[in-house]
Amino acid sequence: MKSELQNLAELAIVDMKLDELQEDCGDLPLTIKRIEKLYYDHIATVKETEQILSDLRKFKAESKITLQTLKDREAVLADKQFNVKNNKEFDAITKEIDHAKSEFVRLTDELRGVGVKEENLVQMLETQNKDVENSKTELDEAQKELEMITSDQNEDLLMLRNKRKEITKNVSQHWYAEYLRIRTLHHDAVVPVKKNSCSGCYSTIPPQKNVELRNNEDKIYYCENCGRIIYTQELEIDPEVLNVI
Ligand SMILES: [Zn+2]
Repeated sequence: MKSELQNLAELAIVDMKLDELQEDCGDLPLTIKRIEKLYYDHIATVKETEQILSDLRKFKAESKITLQTLKDREAVLADKQFNVKNNKEFDAITKEIDHAKSEFVRLTDELRGVGVKEENLVQMLETQNKDVENSKTELDEAQKELEMITSDQNEDLLMLRNKRKEITKNVSQHWYAEYLRIRTLHHDAVVPVKKNSCSGCYSTIPPQKNVELRNNEDKIYYCENCGRIIYTQELEIDPEVLNVI
């Protein structure tokens, strides 16, 4: 049966390796989320522009028909004016022709503006489509990178998580809580004494304490300087755990 200290030392080694693996992924998962949002935002912008453009083109097509109708109407009215019987009729038709003419001018002007707008929108759409394309490429690359890192890690992660579970089963609640408390301060919560110094903060361990450590391997001691749990290098650590480093 392993001592509490042995379990804690092994737990610290496994946790440090797990930290290391997680660090390899770095900010990548967060970056992917950010790019993904950007990508969908770009798609939404393109859809919006496409809708405006389609409405504009519909208006343009309809206006062209209206212009033709106005032209036809003007011709019909002109013919009609030719055969009027009195001045009153003549004036009435003149008024109608003027109205058709002014409508024609107004709509032609509006269409000119629409043409410029359409050109601008087409250009805008081109840029927006490029934004979609670029963010998609960026997203694919980041996802591929993360996949590569995690697939390399999957086996190690699984092994380490199993090992961790196995070790924590044998750590008492009290010491597990204490270990987690130290972990909030130092990622390496349990460290060996090397050359009479704490290998966490490198401060010297008094000779008396060193002797005590060696003689009481099942007792738990702290480094007085940094508060990490310390153990002698003679402490037997599961070689399988040592191998993960
Ligand atoms: Zn220390």
